[in-house]
Amino acid sequence: MFEVVIGLEVHVQLNTKTKLFCSCATSFAAEPNSNTCPTCLALPGALPVVNKEAVIKAMRFGYAVDADVNETSFFDRKSYFYPDSPSAYQITQLYKAVVKNGKMAINGDDGREKIITITQAHLEADAGKSMHEGSISKVDLNRAGTPLLEIVSGPDMRSASEAVEYLKKLHSLVRYLDISDANMQEGSFRCDVNVSIRPKGQKEFGTRVEIKNINSFKFVKQAAEYEIERQIEAYEDGVYEDEVWQETRLFNVESGVTKSMRGKEEAADYRYFPDPDLRPVVATKEMISKAKEFGELPAQKVERYVNELKIKLYDAEVITAQKELAIYFEELLNGGSDVKLAVTWLTQELLGRLNKLGLSIENSPVASSVLSSLIAKITDGTISGKGAKDVLDYMLENEDSNVDSIIEKLGLKQVSDDGAILEIIDDILAKNPDKIEEYKSGKDKLFGFFVGQVMKASKGSANPAKVNELLKQRLS
Ligand code: ADP
Ligand code: MG
Ligand code: ZN
Repeated sequence: MFEVVIGLEVHVQLNTKTKLFCSCATSFAAEPNSNTCPTCLALPGALPVVNKEAVIKAMRFGYAVDADVNETSFFDRKSYFYPDSPSAYQITQLYKAVVKNGKMAINGDDGREKIITITQAHLEADAGKSMHEGSISKVDLNRAGTPLLEIVSGPDMRSASEAVEYLKKLHSLVRYLDISDANMQEGSFRCDVNVSIRPKGQKEFGTRVEIKNINSFKFVKQAAEYEIERQIEAYEDGVYEDEVWQETRLFNVESGVTKSMRGKEEAADYRYFPDPDLRPVVATKEMISKAKEFGELPAQKVERYVNELKIKLYDAEVITAQKELAIYFEELLNGGSDVKLAVTWLTQELLGRLNKLGLSIENSPVASSVLSSLIAKITDGTISGKGAKDVLDYMLENEDSNVDSIIEKLGLKQVSDDGAILEIIDDILAKNPDKIEEYKSGKDKLFGFFVGQVMKASKGSANPAKVNELLKQRLS
C-alpha cells in the first residue's frame, strides 16, 4: 500500500596525508590541537590552498561510477555557527561539484540488478570535535579541514535493505579505489539517511525526513525501519501532516528510536556563495591520468570470476565484496590452488573459522601462501579433505603454520603407494570370496562395501581415490 523512498548522503573521509586546504597532517590520535595551523584555525589573513591529492581521489571515485567528472570545479562557503568550526562556515561544493551523474549497480529487493544514481559527489572540509566534560566544553581542531567526499544518491532505494545494500557496495568501492579507509567505528564513513513514504501509485514524493550521522550498516537499517513505521502509522492515523515534516532527526542507538533534532534548513539559511579565497580547481592532464589509475573493480571481478573461472555468482559476490578477500583469493590462485578448492577453502573453511574467532581476513593467522600449500596437499593426495580440516584447526589453535610438520605430527599422511594399498585390498578380497561372487553376478553396491573394508583396514589412511582405482582393477 505504501512505497518507501530513501536517498543517502554519505560522508567519506579521504585518506590523504594532509588536510584539504593546508599542510597539516590528517591524524587525530595526536595531542588535541597539535595538527593545526593558521589556515585550519581560520586565523585572519591565512589563505587556503587546495590539496591536489584530495581532488584526484574525488575524481577517481567519479570515473569509477561512470560519472561526469568536472575537470574544473569550484568551492563555496556554507555558513553556520558552531564551536567546532572556527571560520563559521564550511568550505564545500554546491554550484559546481567535481562529480555529477554517476551510477552504481546493486542487487535490488526483487533479486535483480538495480541502478542507483549518484547525483553528485563533492569535496568539503570536515569540522573539528567538541568534547564535553561536566560543565566545561573543549574543542579539538585536529580534524578541522580534513577532506571529505560527500556522495549524494538519488531517491532511488525502495526499502531499508536496499539502502544497506547500496551502502555496502559503496563502502567496498571506496576501499577498492584506495581513497578512504572507510573505518565506520572511527567515523571515516558515515551517512545521513533521507526517508519518505507515499501511497503506492502516487507520483509526488512524500515529505522527507533526514536522519543524521549514522555509522553502521545495522543502525542504518534500524533507523530507516523505525522511521518508515512512524511515517506509515502517522498516515494511517490521519496525522501525517502534523507529525511528518521536513526535519533533521537523530537515531538513538540504545532505544532504536529517531528523535527530532531541528527543522531542516533551506539552502538560503546557509547563505552559500563561492569562496573568494579559492580559485577554481582545474585538473591537469597529469591529475586526470592519476585519477584514472585504479585496478579491477568488484563488478568487473565478479564478471571475470563467473565467466572465466566458472565460479558461482553467489561465491563470486562473497569473495569480491571485500577487497582483502579478493586479494587473498587471487593469491591462492597465483599460488597454484585449484579454483574450486580455493573457493570452498576460503569462503567456507577459513572464513567460517575466522568468524567464530571474531577475526577478519586481514588479520588471519593463516596466510594465503600457507592455505594454498595446504590445498596443494589435498590435490596431490597427501592428505584427505578431512585431514586438511584438522590441519587448519591445528594451525588456528596453535599459531603454527608449518603444514608439513603438522601433517606429520597429526599422522594425517594418506597412503597412496600402490603396493601398500594392493596388499590391503588383496587381503580383504581373500577374506570375502562369497561377496566377490555376488558382486560379479551384478550386485554393484558391494563395491562400496569393499572400499569401506579397505579404508577401515588402513585406519583411514589410504587415499580413497587410489583405493577406488585399484579395487576396480582387481575386481574386473
Ligand atoms: P538537500 O540539498 O536539501 O540536502 P537534496 O536534494 O540534496 O537535498 O537531497 C538530499 C538527499 O535526500 C538525496 O540523497 C536525495 O536522494 C534524498 N531525497 C530527496 N527527496 C527525497 C524524498 N522525498 N524521500 C527520500 N529521500 C529523498
Ligand atoms: Mg544535503
Ligand atoms: Zn592546518
